Amino acid sequence: MSLYKGHLAGGFVAFFLYILILILFFSFSPKADVLIWFGVCMLGALWPDVDTNSMAQRLFYGTFLVIDSFLILTGKYKEASLLGFFALLPIVGKHRGWTHTLLAAFIIPSPLLILPLIKPELNTGGLELYVPALIGYLSHLVLDRELRLY
Ligand SMILES: [Zn+2]
Repeated sequence: MSLYKGHLAGGFVAFFLYILILILFFSFSPKADVLIWFGVCMLGALWPDVDTNSMAQRLFYGTFLVIDSFLILTGKYKEASLLGFFALLPIVGKHRGWTHTLLAAFIIPSPLLILPLIKPELNTGGLELYVPALIGYLSHLVLDRELRLY
């Protein structure tokens, strides 16, 4: 099994436990939004390996390319340059460098917390997306033994 499949499986287990805890202790009843949370959790589980030649790198940089192209074509050069700058950060470090730290696990998904504050009209983001991203990210760190739980 390739590495990304192991991280997807780890993210799946972590997400399942998260939903189970919500159901058992917070009387949560799952709705369709849970599928989006799941997708965000899977992206969080893959993100740390964006710093090396991996499926995660191809996925995220392919997405960055599409978004950056759209921003350039619509004349949003400042936003395009900011995306380009921040997209460079993971690949200037070593593999299992800063992207594999606990601090990064909390900071990288933080735009999901900030988005509803700066763009409330989008009606998305917030804690309900941040927590699944964080859970996925942490599952990656546990599997890579950056967080030693076993
Ligand atoms: Zn990793």
